[in-house]
Amino acid sequence: MSFSAHIITLFPELFPGPLGASVIGRGMADGRWSLETTQLRDFATDRHRTVDDTPSGGGAGMVLKPDILAKAIDAVSPEGDLRPRLLMSPRGKPLTQARVHELAAGPGAVIVCGRFEGIDQRVIEARQLEEISIGDYVLAGGEVAAMVLLEAVVRLLPGVLGAAESHADESFENGLLEYPQYTRPQLFEGREIPEVLTSGDHGKVEKWRRAESEKLTRARRPDLLK
Ligand code: SAH
Repeated sequence: MSFSAHIITLFPELFPGPLGASVIGRGMADGRWSLETTQLRDFATDRHRTVDDTPSGGGAGMVLKPDILAKAIDAVSPEGDLRPRLLMSPRGKPLTQARVHELAAGPGAVIVCGRFEGIDQRVIEARQLEEISIGDYVLAGGEVAAMVLLEAVVRLLPGVLGAAESHADESFENGLLEYPQYTRPQLFEGREIPEVLTSGDHGKVEKWRRAESEKLTRARRPDLLK
């Protein structure tokens, strides 16, 4: 059974976008994961296909209506669907590589993309949406955030990255940032590749990389070391 992603959005035409390219797109062509989209507006009930309304209590912008969104969620993810229901949201729990691994080990995800000021709180509660943020900044909509999440998840699915590209050493996988990488030429604008890397001594290379990883993490992301 492959990883099954389903996006609820006002802009289905944005997908697959970058998810159709390179290893992620090839993974889809190979059946390792699948992507469906649902147009939220298809669940509107009035002549104008309205999906939003003004915020209760006043203020700028519009809010996605709970009744319309709940109908879309129920159609996409009926009772018994084991996929987690995610809502892309700047108020959500920041996405981590650990959560990305958990999602990759599961059956897929139903992902709601917000727009405007966001969505009515009651549908978040009633449909138990897990709010996930991709960082402390505000986007115009959840679509790009959903793509970020899916790209991170899909590259971990078995067979998506070639055997040559391993995950083990990467940033965040071992609680550290990755060590610096080099490739030929040996001399670039007066800068040499560190000698240890061309010494052929695998033990020494390993030690150097570990030390560089720790140094970099301490300097840039001391929060990861806690
Ligand atoms: N008024 C909201 C922001 C709405 S932005 C607030 O202040 O919290 C519109 C939509 O973009 C959101 O509903 C969400 O789906 C998406 N979005 C914006 N920033 C995001 C982020 N950092 N991570 C994930 N989704 C985000």
